[in-house]
Amino acid sequence: VPAISIASATKSYGTGTTILKDISLNIAKKEFVSIIGPSGCGKSTLLKLVAGLSPITSGTIAVDGMTPANAREIVSFIFQDATLLPWRTVRQNIVLGLELEGMARDRRTEKVNEVLHLVGLTHVADSYPRQLSGGMKMRVSIARALATRPQVLLLDEPFAALDEMTRDRINEDLLRLRADQGWTSLFVTHSVAEAVFLSTRILVLAPHPGRVAHDIAIDLPFPRN
Ligand code: ADP
Ligand code: ADP
Repeated sequence: VPAISIASATKSYGTGTTILKDISLNIAKKEFVSIIGPSGCGKSTLLKLVAGLSPITSGTIAVDGMTPANAREIVSFIFQDATLLPWRTVRQNIVLGLELEGMARDRRTEKVNEVLHLVGLTHVADSYPRQLSGGMKMRVSIARALATRPQVLLLDEPFAALDEMTRDRINEDLLRLRADQGWTSLFVTHSVAEAVFLSTRILVLAPHPGRVAHDIAIDLPFPRN
């Protein structure tokens, strides 16, 4: 079963214009697929369809063989604004998803410590989001997304607001984490450099209506784990 299978997917909002038209794609497990293309071509919409946050108009989408609505437990979404709850500490923000999942308290503590260590934030576990830099907040978001052990990670321009140096460091981390944890990723970015650095494959969407204009395998001649 492919991680993500999209067949003749078409999307319009309400009775409005067609945003995505007749998209068909198979994404294998552990692929890291970047999506680039001009503003408004439907990149975010495609992620929302896969996440089950917006209904498809026609066609089918399967995530690990399930409908997106039934696959929510194995999918994590990382957005640009880290969307951390300001009144909760880093640890409390990360544990939230695990509480909702019904994980036992001991196991939760262990899991939160593990992901804090993965992203190098053990020292700020009990800080509040306002005490953190932008880069650190993004790392908390990544930790929170990874805590539920997702099979599919959806990232919607997560690093756009970060300065270049912070972004480079987080990209390095993401590459290392991916090698280690092996989720399948769909990553929307405006940065071609970022897409080339992180991806095994790049989809270029073209607008009016959104469709896949290019589907490019990235096979760089240097090791990337
Ligand atoms: P991108 O991520 O490539 O910039 P989006 O997927 O955000 O593109 O948007 C594609 C098009 O769909 C845009 O024209 C946008 O205005 C429209 N759109 C996005 N979300 C909605 C919505 N909830 N209702 C109506 N139109 C929307
Ligand atoms: P990152 O740690 O993600 O690379 P930055 O490059 O912005 O983030 O910050 C580098 C270091 O500076 C951080 O690890 C942190 O210790 C410190 N720092 C930056 N901004 C803040 C802040 N607003 N409050 C506390 N510490 C900060």
